Amino acid sequence: MTGTAASGVAREAIIDRGAIEHNVRALRAATGTHEFIAVVKADGYGHGAVTAARGALAGGATRLGVADVAEALALREAGIHAPIIAWLHAPGADFGPAIAEGVEIGVSDLDQLRRIAAHAGGRTPLAHLKLETGLGRNGAAPEEWAALFAEAAGLEREGRLRVDGIFSHLSGASRDEDVAQLRQFEEALAGATSAGLAPRLRHLAATAAAIDLPETRLDAVRVGLGIYGLSPFDDRSAADLGLRPAMTLRAPIAAVRRVSAGHGASYGYTYRAERDTTFALVPLGYADGVPRQASNVGPVRIHGRRFRVAGRIAMDQFVVDVGDTHVAPGDQAVLFGDPLRGAPSAADWADAAGTINYEIVTRIGPRVRRTVVE
Ligand SMILES: *Cc1c(COP(=O)(O)O)cnc(C)c1O
Repeated sequence: MTGTAASGVAREAIIDRGAIEHNVRALRAATGTHEFIAVVKADGYGHGAVTAARGALAGGATRLGVADVAEALALREAGIHAPIIAWLHAPGADFGPAIAEGVEIGVSDLDQLRRIAAHAGGRTPLAHLKLETGLGRNGAAPEEWAALFAEAAGLEREGRLRVDGIFSHLSGASRDEDVAQLRQFEEALAGATSAGLAPRLRHLAATAAAIDLPETRLDAVRVGLGIYGLSPFDDRSAADLGLRPAMTLRAPIAAVRRVSAGHGASYGYTYRAERDTTFALVPLGYADGVPRQASNVGPVRIHGRRFRVAGRIAMDQFVVDVGDTHVAPGDQAVLFGDPLRGAPSAADWADAAGTINYEIVTRIGPRVRRTVVE
């Protein structure tokens, strides 16, 4: 994906919807669960929630997962009618509009359960009980399970709601700790059964466990990162997992300047040219989600060659020292994309910035135009 920009787009994330479709199909085949929940929260990890949802559903996802009910409602507004579950709520959140749109609610406590059951619309609310099995985030704690299950079963008998799922989320701290959470979860499921609940969907695994810990797959997996073609593992690339990165971040070089040895690049002169050289200016900065921590380290591909950021990444732009390579304004600088096509990876940028690939794609800002290709 090099070559010149004909369109005059300054900053562009090319989103390969076909890659998302491919990744879901591959992960679905590998995990073999009855259902596949594609996680499209946070604007589809920066790829665009609607694009991600459409790609995932085309690849065989049976449901979508988001954090906030507002994210679920935005998908409905875009015409997406697939089942959606939303699991993280502000205190006192109004579930009415979501229930009216058939959005399934992740329920972490009795208060949420009661407020869902109080919904007076024509639709029976669908709940997925969220259980804390060790991660220390939301979800009902083991000492609350019995009361939650009893109340849920009572409300279900009265026809006020239906408990369609029960779920929890793993820490990924180690295999042993994930298995310990699975055992806790199994105990909870037994408690739910004795309370008279019969949830159709028991779900626990996100991308890493879905791939690596088959016993956590249960009735459904909830996969985010993997559907975008990124690996959650340090020791295996996306290609090793048969996944195709769906986002390419690029910008046409905005300016080119020949400089003498000793010339500084960007604020604070943390980089100086060692010899006479060429500076190329890339119009992407930390306002666009390019991490400033990757100053002097982040990789950039121009004309099929890999360079590094020279000096500090600024709000809107950074410099690349391209040496004597002939570069002209409009030539494309690719920050990350599919390594099989020569681009650096989102993981390379994560390493450069001391973070994870999840954050690299999710933080891409609103100035970056998303261009969807098949
Ligand atoms: C974000 C999230 C996921 C997806 O995690 P990945 O590691 O991206 O697959 C699954 N379940 C819950 C509860 C989440 O918050």
